[in-house]
Amino acid sequence: MNLLIMGLPGAGKGTQAAKIVEKFDVVHISTGDMFRAAMANQTEMGLLAKSYIDKGDLVPDEVTNGIVKERLAQEDIKEKGFLLDGYPRTIEQAHALDEALKNLGITLEGVINIEIDPAKLVERLSGRIIHRETGETFHKVFNPPAEGYDEKDYYQREDDKPESVKRRLEVNIAQGQPIIDHYRAAGLVHDIEGDQDIEVVFADIEKVLSKLQ
Ligand code: ADP
Ligand code: AMP
Repeated sequence: MNLLIMGLPGAGKGTQAAKIVEKFDVVHISTGDMFRAAMANQTEMGLLAKSYIDKGDLVPDEVTNGIVKERLAQEDIKEKGFLLDGYPRTIEQAHALDEALKNLGITLEGVINIEIDPAKLVERLSGRIIHRETGETFHKVFNPPAEGYDEKDYYQREDDKPESVKRRLEVNIAQGQPIIDHYRAAGLVHDIEGDQDIEVVFADIEKVLSKLQ
């Protein structure tokens, strides 16, 4: 299956993507994860990305389109299919993706759109913690790691601090609607209620994907 997962920052894309990948064996491509890996390795691209990410801005389209195009051209994508998470985030990126998929002879089969009231997202993002060793995402209140966990084993993303969160939500709300409209016009969008327990959200996604398979 070739899929996108969309939703505002904190909607639950990464959380659901991990479950989808496990159940449906597609390749998870998260542009946010790719940028964070590049930042950790202090590559030239990582340093450039960091200057945007820390402020809550989007990394420029030419950079982002480039890394996605390169990843989609790798062998495993044709074998297993993909789940793109966090991309496209501008309508220009959506057009670049259409073009890249066309050139690769790949058809997009569905767009999972996780809907949630933006007012809930500050709480989601400010409580998000990441396990240092595995990169797994948790939430201090809504999805805590095992009881008695050691806070030192987890970190908070730099861009989940209040200064960046506000800007990220503004940017993503402004850019997101035309992208959803674009895919809705193609009949690809499946809306999922994101303000439910993690397992309930996943059950709704599973229903959609089982029909697409
Ligand atoms: P995104 O990838 O869309 O930015 P995440 O999957 O990282 O979002 O989720 C953001 C935060 O909200 C994380 O701390 C996660 O544990 C938590 N979370 C995800 N889904 C839910 C949910 N359905 N209910 C409550 N908290 C959730
Ligand atoms: P995410 O992990 O998806 O929340 O992404 C973290 C940050 O990486 C975003 O706030 C952006 O600064 C950057 N980023 C991730 N994906 C994209 C994209 N498709 N276009 C531009 N910037 C992106």
